[in-house]
Amino acid sequence: MTFTFTSPLSSCPECGRRLVVYKTVTRKVRTTNGEFTAVHRMMTCRFHRKIIRPDALDSLVSPYCTYSNEVMIIRFTARFDISP
Ligand SMILES: [Zn+2]
Repeated sequence: MTFTFTSPLSSCPECGRRLVVYKTVTRKVRTTNGEFTAVHRMMTCRFHRKIIRPDALDSLVSPYCTYSNEVMIIRFTARFDISP
């Protein structure tokens, strides 16, 4: 299963120019329900060189981490034998 995360913005918030794809990052994410592929599409303004990242994935998965926050919480509570 693949989910694509992209910025809801289609134009630069500063100058209104159309955003172009800067870079696409693919990452495997493990959750309690299985594994999915997250495609993270970063956009940029050619004029400002400002990179606009989708924030949806960051709230779901910490940067540079392949496990979702949900899995981390379960692992953490299991290790210390406490209930969430
Ligand atoms: Zn701009």
